[in-house]
Amino acid sequence: MNSPEQILKNIFGYSSFRSIQKEVITNVLNKNNTIAVMPTGGGKSLCYQIPALMHNGLTLVISPLISLMKDQLDQLHELGIPAGMLNSALSDELYSETVSEVKDGSLKLLYCAPETLFQQRTINLLRESSLSFIAVDEAHCISEWGHDFRPEYRRICEICNLFPNVTCIALTATATSQVRADISSLLNISSDSEFVAPFDRPNLFLDILPKVDPKQQAVEFISLFPEQAGIIYCFSRRQVEDLTKYLLKGGVNARAYHAGLSDKLREENQELFRRDDITVIVATIAFGMGINKPDIRFVLHFDLPQNIESYYQQIGRAGRDGLPAHCRTFFSHGDISKIQFFINQKSDTEKKISYNKLNDLLTYMESRECRRIPLLHYFSDNYDKQNCENCDNCVTPPPPENDYTVDAQKFLSCVMRMEQRYGVTLIIDILRGSKSAKVQQTGGNNISTYGIGSNHSKSEWMTLFRQMCSKGLLNVDREFGSLKITAAGIKVMKKEADFYGYITPATSTYRKKAGPEYGDRKLFEQLRSLRKKIAIEDGVPPYTVFPDKTLMEMSLFLPQTRDSLLMIHGVGLNKLERFGELFLNEINDYLNNNSVTLSPATSSSANDKERAYQRSARLFTEGLSVSALADQESVKASTIIDHLYRWVLEGNPLNTEALLDEFNISDELCLTAHPLFVKHGIKALKPVFEGADGAIDYEILKVLRIWYHAEKIQT
Ligand code: ADP
Ligand code: ZN
Repeated sequence: MNSPEQILKNIFGYSSFRSIQKEVITNVLNKNNTIAVMPTGGGKSLCYQIPALMHNGLTLVISPLISLMKDQLDQLHELGIPAGMLNSALSDELYSETVSEVKDGSLKLLYCAPETLFQQRTINLLRESSLSFIAVDEAHCISEWGHDFRPEYRRICEICNLFPNVTCIALTATATSQVRADISSLLNISSDSEFVAPFDRPNLFLDILPKVDPKQQAVEFISLFPEQAGIIYCFSRRQVEDLTKYLLKGGVNARAYHAGLSDKLREENQELFRRDDITVIVATIAFGMGINKPDIRFVLHFDLPQNIESYYQQIGRAGRDGLPAHCRTFFSHGDISKIQFFINQKSDTEKKISYNKLNDLLTYMESRECRRIPLLHYFSDNYDKQNCENCDNCVTPPPPENDYTVDAQKFLSCVMRMEQRYGVTLIIDILRGSKSAKVQQTGGNNISTYGIGSNHSKSEWMTLFRQMCSKGLLNVDREFGSLKITAAGIKVMKKEADFYGYITPATSTYRKKAGPEYGDRKLFEQLRSLRKKIAIEDGVPPYTVFPDKTLMEMSLFLPQTRDSLLMIHGVGLNKLERFGELFLNEINDYLNNNSVTLSPATSSSANDKERAYQRSARLFTEGLSVSALADQESVKASTIIDHLYRWVLEGNPLNTEALLDEFNISDELCLTAHPLFVKHGIKALKPVFEGADGAIDYEILKVLRIWYHAEKIQT
C-alpha cells in the first residue's frame, strides 16, 4: 500500500504536509474517531481524502452545501479520483448512476447532504456498500452552540451508531472549546484525538485604512491586482449594487451578490467568479460559505464587518492556496453607528453580547500593535511574535502617542459629575456642549464640564474613550452601558498619572506589491490561457485543472521533461498524464520563440519550509549518495537527479565530483559531452544524445548536464 506521503505527491502533487494534516491522517488510519479544527484554507479536505484513498471501501462525506460538494467533485475528478454525490438537486438519471457506482464499488468517495442521508433508501444503500470511513465536513453545524446549527446534523451520530466499526472524522474551521466538546461527545471522539491547528494565516497581509473616499479607494486597491480574483464585502444590498455599478463603469469586471437577487442570478454570478470569467464579487455577508476558490488574492471590507468572527471568516477566503493575499478594511466611525442601529433592534440579552463583540472588533481596528495579536487573542490563540512583518502596524509602525492627559481629565471628571450613571454618548455630548434634549433632561448643561471638550469631534472623543477603556481607566457597565471610573482612572484625574494616546487611527498608506511573484510573466499568462481552454472543455473551474501556484512554478522553473514537471507543485501522476504534454509543449514552444535565461530562482517559492529538492541537495552536500538518498526518501534515483538539476539551475553550487564518481563517469566522457552541451544547450537532451550517436544513455546525460551547468556557473 502507498504511504500518505506517496499519495500526497503522486495524486495531489504536493511535496509536504501542512500543519496538523499528518497527525490527523495517522490518527484516522489508526482507526480513532478524530476531530480536526483548521482555519479556512488550512487544508482540511486532504485529511479525509488521503485516508479515503488508503481504505479499501467507500468513504462517506457529509457536507451541508451542494455548491461545496460540486466544488469538491470538480477537484477530485480532475485528479482522477472516482467520487460522486447524492442530494436533492440530482436528476433521476444521475442519481441511479451514482447508486450503481456505489453498489459496484467503483466510487471511492460519496458526498451526501444530511437530509438525503436520512432517507431510508440511502441508509439501505450504505448498508449494501463497503462503507469504511465517514467524514463530517463543517462539523460545527452539529452543535447548538455553533453559529450555523442545523438540527439534521445532530442526527449524524445515528449513522455512526449504525456502522459502529467505521471510523469517523469531524472537520471544521470554527469551533470554540464548547463546540468542540459537543462534537466530540456526540461522535465519540476521545480527547487525545482532538487536533487544533494554529489559527494564524501567515500569508494574509492585514491592513486598516481610514475611509475617506471609499469608492475611489476601492478602485485604487483593485488596480493592484490586475486579472486576479477578489471579494469586496459591503454592509447593505444597496451599497453592493451602488459599488458594483461604479466599478463596472471604471472597467472592473465585477458582479453583485446578495440575498435580494434571485437564486438563479446569485448562482450565475458565483459560477462566473469560480471560473475566472469575472474577477471581482461585490457582496453582502450572504456570500462565501459555498465558495472554495483557492486563488482569491484580496478581500476588501468596504464597510466595517459585524464582529471579529465574521471578519476572520471573510478574510479567510483569501489566499487558500498559501500564496500572499491582501485583506484590507476601510474604517470610519460613521460605520459604527450603522452597526449600533442594528444591534439596538435586538433583544436585551443579544444586545449585550453584540455590544461586547463590537467593542472587541473596534479594539482590533484601532490597535497599534501587530494586528495578529488582538485577532488571535480573540480566538484564545496566543501570538508570540512581536512583529509578523505582514500587517500595516508591523510594516509601518504608527506614529508615537501624544499626551492627552488633560483631555482624559476632562472626560473623567464629566463622568464623575454625572455620578457614573450615564453612557459614553451623553458624556461626549455634554463635553461638546450639545443642546440636545437628553443633555437638558439630565442636567448635563448645568455642570462645570459642559462644553469644555469642543476642541475634539465626536469621533475623536470616541477614539480617546476606547483607549481609556483599553488602558483600564474606565469600565463600561455590561448591562446599562454606564461608565465607571477605575482606580487607575482616579489617578489620572488627580494628576498622579498621565494618559498617552492618539486621536486619528493609524493612517497606513502602505501598499503591498501586487500579488505574488511570478517567474516569466508572459509565459505565465500563456499557461493561464491554456488552463482556461482546458477548463472550458472539461466544464470545470480553471483552478481545478491547476492552481496558480503550479503555473507560477512552471514559468519560474521552465520544466521541459515529464520528470521535471512532476516536481512542480500540484502536478501528480494523473494530471501529468492528462495535461503534461499540453503544458510541456506550451513551455517548449515558448522557449523556442523567446530567449529566456534560466535565472537563479527568485523568492517566489522561497517559503521557509525546505522543499524536497532543496532537502535532496542539502543531504547530498552533507555526503549522502544519490542512491542512499533515493532509498531514504522512497523515490527513484532519477528523481533525486532531477532535484539536483533544479538546484544547480537556480544557480546553487554542488559537489559534482562526488556525483561523477557515483555514476562512474570518466573524464573522457565529460570531454565528449562538453562540446555537445556547448553546441546544443541544456534545455533539451535529445540533440546531445543524438550528437553522441546514442552512445551515452539519458540517465548519464542528465548527470553530465548537472556537472556541465554547475561548472559553468562556478567559473
Ligand atoms: P479548507 O477546506 O481547510 O479550507 P482546503 O482543503 O480546501 O482547505 O485546502 C486549501 C488549498 O490548499 C487547496 O487548494 C488544497 O489543494 C491546498 N492544500 C492542502 N494541503 C496542501 C499541502 N499539504 N500542500 C500544498 N497544498 C495543499
Ligand atoms: Zn503584524
